[in-house]
Amino acid sequence: MNMSASTQLLKAQQLRITDMRIKVLDLFLSHQEALSQNDLENSLGEADRITLYRTLRTFEESGLIHKAIDGTDKQKYALCKHTQCKPNQHFDHHAHFHCDDCGKTTCVEEIAAPILSPPPGFSISKTHLVIHGTCSNCQVAS
Ligand SMILES: [Zn+2]
Ligand SMILES: [Zn+2]
Ligand SMILES: [Zn+2]
Repeated sequence: MNMSASTQLLKAQQLRITDMRIKVLDLFLSHQEALSQNDLENSLGEADRITLYRTLRTFEESGLIHKAIDGTDKQKYALCKHTQCKPNQHFDHHAHFHCDDCGKTTCVEEIAAPILSPPPGFSISKTHLVIHGTCSNCQVAS
């Protein structure tokens, strides 16, 4: 049997294979940019919001997707790099690029978030690096 990429990913993370999980993973695999729950709802048509929300949470917990923090109030998610992230342990220390023209957010694996030393008495749990600008698609269009 020819397994789809989504099926393989679910199997690798030992997740039960459901229609919703396949559909959501297919969408992440076919998009370069990070997707919000709203984006996914628009593509899925009649998706049950609660099921979709739970699917995203399960994916995040199992190391399949991570939050792509882009400085906007929209919560977006992006696929983690293959097998890099583990359940409840993410290693996505890269920058996220937010295009001010089209509003799309993209992972920039080549740029790592800096390792900073905290001020005395402070401790750092996470550092986000957000880059604003114009993406390659919009550069071409203008
Ligand atoms: Zn991750
Ligand atoms: Zn753009
Ligand atoms: Zn990312």
